[in-house]
Amino acid sequence: MTLPTPPISEFNEFELSSDLLSAVKNCAYQQPTLVQTQAIPAILLGKDVLAEAQTGSGKTAAYALPILEQLLRYRATPSEDQIRGNHIRYLILVPSRELANQVSQEFYQYSRDIMPKINIRSVYGGVEIEPQIKYLQQNTDILIATPQRILALAEKKAVQFNYLQSLVLDEVDRLIEDSFREPIEALFKLLPTQRQNLMFTATFPQQVRSLIRQVLYHPVVINIKQQSQEQIDQHVITTNPQDKVAVLYSLIQQYHWQPLLVFCSTKKACDQLATDLQQKGLNAVAIHGNKPQEERENRLMDFKHGKLAILIATDLAARGIDFINLPCVINYQLPRVPNDYLHRIGRTGRAGKAGLAISIISPLEYGHFNAIEKHLNITLEREQVKGFEVDEQAPIQPYKKSRKKAKKPLSKKRKQRQNNRKKQQKEGVALTNKQRENDIDPIAPSKKEKTSVWGQKNN
Ligand code: AMP
Repeated sequence: MTLPTPPISEFNEFELSSDLLSAVKNCAYQQPTLVQTQAIPAILLGKDVLAEAQTGSGKTAAYALPILEQLLRYRATPSEDQIRGNHIRYLILVPSRELANQVSQEFYQYSRDIMPKINIRSVYGGVEIEPQIKYLQQNTDILIATPQRILALAEKKAVQFNYLQSLVLDEVDRLIEDSFREPIEALFKLLPTQRQNLMFTATFPQQVRSLIRQVLYHPVVINIKQQSQEQIDQHVITTNPQDKVAVLYSLIQQYHWQPLLVFCSTKKACDQLATDLQQKGLNAVAIHGNKPQEERENRLMDFKHGKLAILIATDLAARGIDFINLPCVINYQLPRVPNDYLHRIGRTGRAGKAGLAISIISPLEYGHFNAIEKHLNITLEREQVKGFEVDEQAPIQPYKKSRKKAKKPLSKKRKQRQNNRKKQQKEGVALTNKQRENDIDPIAPSKKEKTSVWGQKNN
C-alpha cells in the first residue's frame, strides 16, 4: 500500500513554523497524506473539521501539527501569560489509555524542537488520580484524556476549561459507545461553547451522524475513503473449532510472521490461547482489560520494539494503536460488530506497508462471518489448511438476517383493542400509544430533536 498522493505535495506548503517542519523531516515523512492535506489548512483557519479517516491515514499528525502551530502563534501574543495553573488550551479525547499514550508520543515527536517546551500530558483511568492532579497544576498546554478520567479530574477542579481553544474527538465512532456517553455528556456541560471542534472517525454509524449535527459548526468535511481495507490482503480459513490452535500454529510455522497480532473476542480466550502457544514454545503474551495498566503498556512496548513475537489481544488493541511494521493480523475469534473487523485489520498495512489479515473460523462462526461480509460489502473465498479441513458433519451456524425476537401472537382481546385503536387513529380521533403515555404533541419536534445529547452547538 502506498499513501495517496494529494494535491499539496510538500509539508512546507503549509503555514507551519520551522520547528514543526524540521520535526516532520526528522520523521522522514516524504509528503503529507490526503487527510493532512485537507485538515491542516482548515484547522489553522480555526474551522470545525469532520474527517472520516482510518487509523493509518496519518490523522494524528493531521490535527497535532496545526494544534502545535496554533499554540506557537498564541505564545507570540501578549495575553498568553495570563493562562496558567490548571487551565488547558487543547483537549484531545480518546477512547483508550493505549491510544492516549500513542497520541502523546506523536505530539512529543512533533514538538521536540520547540522551545520553551510545550507541555503535553495524558490522563487516563486505571492509575492513581492524585499524581495527575499534582502535575496538572504545572501548566498543561495540550491534554490527552480518556472521558471518565478527565471528568473525574474536572469534578475535583484539577483541570479548568475557561481558555479551551479546541476539542479533538479522536475515534469518535468509539467515543459514542454507551460506556462513554455519561462522562462525555457531563464533560460537555463544562466546556465553553465557543471552541473549535475536530472530529476524526474511521467509520460512520448513525449515532456519529446525529452527534455531528449537535456538536460541529459548519464543519469542513473530509472524506478519505477506506483505501487500506482494499489493499490489505484478506483471507478466511475454515476449520473445526478444536483445530483452531493447530491451524494457527501451523500457519505461524509456515510463514514466520513477526511480529504477529492475534485477536480474540474474550479475555478468557486470550489467556487460553497465550498458554496454548507458550506450551508450543512460542513467545506469545495476552493483553486485555483485566491486566494491570502497567503490564499492558509494557507488553505493547515490547511488541512494538520487537521483544515480543506474538501479541494476543481483545479489541482494546484494535483501535488507534499504531504498529508500523506489522505484516499480519489474525482473527482467531471474530469481533462482535463488523466495524471492529475493519479496525482490527487496519493494524496491518499501515503507512505504506503491505498488509495481510486472516480470519480463522469454524462452522459455528459461518453465519457471523457472512454478516460481516455483507455489512462491509466484501466476499472472501473460504480456504482450508491441509490436514485440518472442516468435518463434513460439523453443525453450521446459519446466516441470521436480524436478531429481533419474533413477536408473540396477541391475545384475541388485545388484537380487538389494537384494531379499534388503529381505526380511530385513521379517523383522527385517537392518539398513538406513545403519544398517550407521554402526552406528546404529535406535531411538536420530538424530545430527541429538541435537546442536544452532547451539548449545544458553538455558534
Ligand atoms: P495515524 O493514522 O495517525 O495512526 O498514523 C499512522 C502512521 O503514519 C503513524 O505511524 C505516523 O507516524 C505515520 N505518518 C503520519 N503522517 C505521515 C506521512 N505524511 N507520511 C508517512 N507516514 C506518516
